[in-house]
Parts: sequence; structure tokens; C-alpha cells
Amino acid sequence: NKYLRLINLEKDNIKNIFNSIESIIFEKNIQGTYLFANDAFKNIFCRDIIGKRDTQIFNEETAYKLINDDMLVINEQKSISREIELSINGKKHIFSIKKFPLHDENEDIKICGISLDITKEKELQHKKDELNEMIDNYIILSYTDSNGMITDISKAFCRLCGYEKYELIGKNHNILGACGQDDLLKELWECIEQNNVWYGEFKNKKKDGSIFYIESTVMPHYDFKGKKIGYMMLAKDITDKKIVEKLSITDALTNLYNRRFFDEVFEKKVSIAARERTKVALFMCDIDNFKSYNDIYGHQMGDKVLKEISDELKSHFCRAGDFVCRIGGEEFAVILTILGSKQLDDFASKIVKKIEKLSIEHKGNEPFNVVTVSCGIAVVDFETTDKIFSVDDIYKMSDDELYKSKQNGKNRFSSIHIP
Ligand code: GH3
Ligand code: MG
Ligand code: MG
Repeated sequence: NKYLRLINLEKDNIKNIFNSIESIIFEKNIQGTYLFANDAFKNIFCRDIIGKRDTQIFNEETAYKLINDDMLVINEQKSISREIELSINGKKHIFSIKKFPLHDENEDIKICGISLDITKEKELQHKKDELNEMIDNYIILSYTDSNGMITDISKAFCRLCGYEKYELIGKNHNILGACGQDDLLKELWECIEQNNVWYGEFKNKKKDGSIFYIESTVMPHYDFKGKKIGYMMLAKDITDKKIVEKLSITDALTNLYNRRFFDEVFEKKVSIAARERTKVALFMCDIDNFKSYNDIYGHQMGDKVLKEISDELKSHFCRAGDFVCRIGGEEFAVILTILGSKQLDDFASKIVKKIEKLSIEHKGNEPFNVVTVSCGIAVVDFETTDKIFSVDDIYKMSDDELYKSKQNGKNRFSSIHIP
């Protein structure tokens, strides 16, 4: 009696527990008749369910699915899990159901089921999937491990660079970088390794080798436990902006920098040199008797010469920090990385000779009879002079030297070094 009371007490306890939980719990016999259902079941579907079957509670289609599952559990003696859509008061709900076989005291099989309304989770999951899909399609995003190996990359990024996802995952992010950005990369790594956020522009290379530019934010990436697992890059395609920017500072005929660029950069260079007390040098050159070249050979041929001279200048002034500009019709200026004074004069002399050696026929340029140039150079060393030189002063000095070259017979250079 005492044991019976204890057992009944335990039974009541278990029943109370079953009735207080959110999950639906039920038991059916082999014929599919409900033997037990907890309060959650009764509240959602049907108050007096004991003794009924699924066909009396659910619509035909749902009942068919449920009974089918019951058969599986009975016939195969194993548990099954599935999600099922049910309509409650006209609203669609999704339930997860797990059913498994139980044996009663007579060794008869029963079906026990646990089910939970997962509609909200499903909705959240759907929203999350939708958001992820949107991010993947429209946001330029990549993830790397701590060594810069790509662990994931968005479709939008793949589309931009012309690779497939599988071609990039596992590769170093450098696969996308154009060369010549070592300093930038160093700065980036120093920043993000200290767990700071880095902002900057990158010149990148597509699969087909063409260039694209991105404005990017690179930041550390943490897992849900807060452990750093690598880096995340969020970027914006700024290629069009860069092209427009480039066009606005490029001379269309020669592809050199234009006057606007020259004015801007020369001003910056002079003010930096004055502040940091370093050197600044300006090389100017002008084609000799070019008016008569056009008169003799035509304007189109004249344009060709302008391009040839431009290419020649670019091939000599090719160090980082050399800016070769077309500042007028047949006038060029180069803002220079400083060489020693003697070196610079030798360099200028070499360029004058090289251009003559191009041997471009020019009958109107006597006595040389080929295209030649006259050059003027001004170098100011702010370290050793206390005088103040403005942009205009230095420009005029260089121009005066050019004038001297013209006066002294052209096809030559003249220079001034201060002090
Ligand atoms: P100098 O030796 O004193 O420099 O004589 P020059 O004839 O070169 O100088 P001038 O300033 O009298 O003439 C410059 C000529 O350059 C005028 C023009 O016919 C020519 N020129 C300027 N811009 C262009 C251009 O874009 N294309 C062509 N083909 N010629 C140009
Ligand atoms: Mg001129
Ligand atoms: Mg000229």
C-alpha cells in the first residue's frame, strides 16, 4: 500500500511536470487512439482528446501524415522526427514532432510523441536567411583567418573580382591585391593585429587581370565566445570614382598628368619641403620650334611627336615620387625625387641628348634638323637656405632657366641650385 501510494505520488508528479511544460506530450495505442495528452496538447488542439483519433481532430491531409508516421514507428520500432505544418484558428503553424515506440505492461507497443510549436523560430530563421542572402548578394564582404587566408567571401565580392567562391576560399587574400602596395599592407596588418579597425583604399586585381578599387574597412572577427578567429573586410567598389578622378588629372593626348594635377601637387611638395626643410626640384622642358613642326608636317604629326616626347620623359622619370606633367601645349614639367645637384644636371643633359637621338625629322629646327627640347631646372634646398621660396618663385626660376636655354641656342638645359 505504501509503495502503491508512493508510485501514485510519483505518477502525479510526473503528470504535473508534463502539464507544466510548453512541449506537447501524448501517447497513443497501436490503433492510433489517444491514451494520454498533456495540457499543452489540450490547450492547443482539443480539450477532450482521450479516446479520439487523429482523423477526429485534424483535417484529412494532416491526419494522413500523422498516421503514416505512427505506422513507421510501429513497423520499424524506431523513433522518427519531422516537421509538420498545421493550421490553428486559420493560422499556419509549424511543429516539430518526435515519435518513438514504448511498451506497456502487456508488452504491447504504444506510440509516445513530443512536439513543439517552432513557428517563431522558423520565422526568425527565415528572416536570418533572407538577410544573409541579401548580404551575400549585395555586400562586398570577406572573412579571413588570422593569417589572411580567405575563409568566406560574399557572392557580391566574387562577382566584382570575377572569381568563383571555391577558387578563393583557402587562398591568401593577397590573390586579389594589385602589386606595389607593400607599405599599405604593412600598415593594415600593424593596425588589425592590435585589434583595431583599419580604413583605406585598395587597388585590386580581378581574375582577368583588370584593376578595380575598393574602399575598405578591415576589422577583427570574433566567434560567439568572443575569441578572435580572424578578420572581416567590408568594402565598397570605388572603381568608377577612381576612373573619374584619374581622368580629371590626366592629359588625354599624352596620358601624362595635366596642369591641374601639376598645380595641386607642386604646391603640396613645396610646402612639405619648406616645412620639413628638404629639397624640392622642378624640371621643365619645351619643344624647340614646334610651331614650325606643325606648319611643315601638320598638326596630327605634331600630336604624335608630343606623345613620343611624353613617353621618353616618362621612361626616364620613373621613380616613385616623380610626376611627369604636360603643363601647356608643348611644355612639360616634372616634379622630382631629388638627386644630388650634379647628378640631376647629368640626368638633364642625358635626356636632352636622348630626345635628339630619337631622330624625329624636323626641317624647321636648324641646325639640328631633328626634334629637340630645351630644359630648365630649379632646385631649392630648404635645409641650407633661410630664404623663403614660394611655388611661384620656384616655377619662375625654372622657367627663367628654360628661357636661358632657348637664348643660348636651344637643345640644351640650364639649371639653378639654391643655395
Ligand atoms: P620655341 O622653340 O621658342 O619654343 O618655339 P615654338 O614654336 O616651339 O614655340 P611657340 O610657343 O611659338 O609655339 C608652340 C607651338 O606648339 C604652337 C602650336 O602650334 C604647338 N602646339 C601647342 N599645343 C599643341 C598640340 O596639342 N598639338 C600640336 N600638334 N601642336 C601644339
Ligand atoms: Mg612653348
Ligand atoms: Mg616650344
